[in-house]
Amino acid sequence: MTAKRKDLATRQAEAARSGARAAGYCALEHPNGGASCTRSPGHGGPHRDFYNGRQSVTDASGTEWVE
Ligand SMILES: [Zn+2]
Repeated sequence: MTAKRKDLATRQAEAARSGARAAGYCALEHPNGGASCTRSPGHGGPHRDFYNGRQSVTDASGTEWVE
């Protein structure tokens, strides 16, 4: 499967109308997919998905990235 990468503006628009945003998350999707930000909307610093991308269950956090 060759998913086309979405640009930042597309992902921001999708996040803004997502259920996760309504639930209080930033919700921005990772550029490569597979993760979406679980921090607060408008947060500072890198985006982070606490639930996806952990290398092991003992990792403190999952995927972290900067746009
Ligand atoms: Zn974020």
